[in-house]
Amino acid sequence: MADNTVWQETLHDQFGQYFTVERVLYHEKTDHQDLIIFENAAFGRVMALDGVVQTTERDEFIYHEMMTHVPLLAHGHAKRVLIIGGGDGAMLREVSRHRNVESITMVEIDAGVVAFCRQYLPNHSAGAYDDPRFTLVIDDGVNFVNQTTQTFDIIISDCTDPIGPGENLFTSAFYQGCKRCLTPGGIFVAQNGVCFLQQDEAIDSHRKLSHYFADVSFYQAAVPTYYGGMMTFAWASDNEALRHLSTEIIQARFHSAGIRCRYYNPAIHTAAFALPQYLHDALPHQAT
Ligand code: SAM
Repeated sequence: MADNTVWQETLHDQFGQYFTVERVLYHEKTDHQDLIIFENAAFGRVMALDGVVQTTERDEFIYHEMMTHVPLLAHGHAKRVLIIGGGDGAMLREVSRHRNVESITMVEIDAGVVAFCRQYLPNHSAGAYDDPRFTLVIDDGVNFVNQTTQTFDIIISDCTDPIGPGENLFTSAFYQGCKRCLTPGGIFVAQNGVCFLQQDEAIDSHRKLSHYFADVSFYQAAVPTYYGGMMTFAWASDNEALRHLSTEIIQARFHSAGIRCRYYNPAIHTAAFALPQYLHDALPHQAT
């Protein structure tokens, strides 16, 4: 792809978003997917995999703050965190801000994404790859969670959409593996697309996760370049109370964590679990 052209996202057939490409920084077919990183005047550096926007410099903080601080502060004493995917390093950056976390493992299928994002999206990882608590595993996440002897308090599935290698991370085999290596009281969260446009994916995840977890639901945030509505995050644990903590409890934990965010705050945390009626109506037995 040349400079000064237009990049068209191909996630949906009948409609989509485009970005002007001021400069292509990198474009390669890795062993697993087509990776492009380019500069856009409105969103800064943009990374896409197989034609789908993964992350942009301008709005990545919303997604990464919500997928880390919500489960970590809801848990309250997480020590061991597993990130599946997350090759751009921003999820690792946000997890590493929690001083009480003792170990962070990231299982990424494509070493190329890590290498090129470290070079072309340095602000995403912001040095977190050098955190002494961090271990990088290059593998398919579904293999890792079904074979590891380690256990984790929080599992964050920061994967692509269920196309290409990401498809494995929306299967029962993956969810079963996650349940297998989560500690009692552990929390699983996953990116589950924009449910207004990808509602079937949310319903499918809910159905599969409900086989392994007592409490399965979602929470949401608006991420501009995951266009089409609210980005939906799957939530699974065996303790429903973890999803209903008061703003006051979250506030106390947020304060003692000593973290300042640009999107996340305790009020946003508790409000994020309020779901639209059409999603409640689409889910079986979804009382609250
Ligand atoms: N924030 C993005 C989103 O919401 O779509 C996801 C960001 S991150 C770039 C997605 C990562 O998942 C990529 O680095 C990709 O290589 C990785 N990935 C895809 N399938 C995977 C699998 N089966 N196991 C581990 N990592 C996988």
